[in-house]
Amino acid sequence: MPCFSCGARQTDPVRGASPWTRGVRDETQVLVCPDCRHTHDVDLDTCASCGSAALICRLGEVECRSCGAVRLARSGAGAGRPVASCAPGLADEVEAALARVLRRVP
Ligand SMILES: [Zn+2]
Ligand SMILES: [Zn+2]
Repeated sequence: MPCFSCGARQTDPVRGASPWTRGVRDETQVLVCPDCRHTHDVDLDTCASCGSAALICRLGEVECRSCGAVRLARSGAGAGRPVASCAPGLADEVEAALARVLRRVP
């Protein structure tokens, strides 16, 4: 997934956490490259409970990765078109599994 703001492509992940920021914008899962994250305010949706922008957009739901709050996605945005732009939770599971494997390397 390219950066939603400038369209830059994510390079191969280096070891450790990716500097790219994942978030939700207009009920759509987006990626923000480090440049855009640092150079201008990216307008990401934030959690109503804790204000964190670490949100995951699932089918019809937006979940906060900081406090776990789940809200229904607004029905206005994206109504009438499939929610194909929302990455399912699978990517997160793969990422978590990868992280576990990497951490096991002596
Ligand atoms: Zn960018
Ligand atoms: Zn939250």
